[in-house]
Amino acid sequence: MELTPGVHLLESTRGSFCYLVLGDEPVLIDTGMPGRADKILEELARIGLQPRDLAHILISHHDVDHIGNAKALQEATSATVWAPAADLPYIRGERRRPGVRRAIGLFYRPPAPRVDQVYAPGTRIGNIEVIPTPGHTPGHVSFLRGDVLFAGDLVTTRGGRLLPSPGILTTDPAALRQSLREVGRLSFDWVCPAHGRPVRRGNLWDALVR
Ligand SMILES: [Zn+2]
Repeated sequence: MELTPGVHLLESTRGSFCYLVLGDEPVLIDTGMPGRADKILEELARIGLQPRDLAHILISHHDVDHIGNAKALQEATSATVWAPAADLPYIRGERRRPGVRRAIGLFYRPPAPRVDQVYAPGTRIGNIEVIPTPGHTPGHVSFLRGDVLFAGDLVTTRGGRLLPSPGILTTDPAALRQSLREVGRLSFDWVCPAHGRPVRRGNLWDALVR
């Protein structure tokens, strides 16, 4: 589904949505649940994007439903894979995920991609700005492109409502609250989460930071 010009929600990634941002350097935001790489590539082709055309894969954080197809998509394309430095040990499988993530990790062990670049303060990739939003995980980042915020798991949506990412999966609640406050100061119209469908911001963000 084309949300705004050049911004596509990939329906094949239902459960943990990925987004495609077209432009001089097409960008895939997150890679979804493991085992969906072929479906993702088919959907990109329907949009008119061949594997060699994908320039960047941006990973928001280390969770398995976000890195699930990173390695397969990296191998199928020539995209540069970006990830947060603080989440690298988990992405690479060098450190076991804590808490409930350990249990999830027993069922899903996506192969690790080769991370080509890590985000630095102020990183821009094409016309996408990287916004550090720690809390859900130590390195979690969100992305701003024009009036669209790609929130990863900073927030979720349900029935048109906006909710913070679930407490049970929050690594650092105070950092999450601070991230929500800081993002709230930015200007954007659309909120695109991984879990739940995009919503117009309206005054929904205000309820998150009260
Ligand atoms: Zn997720």
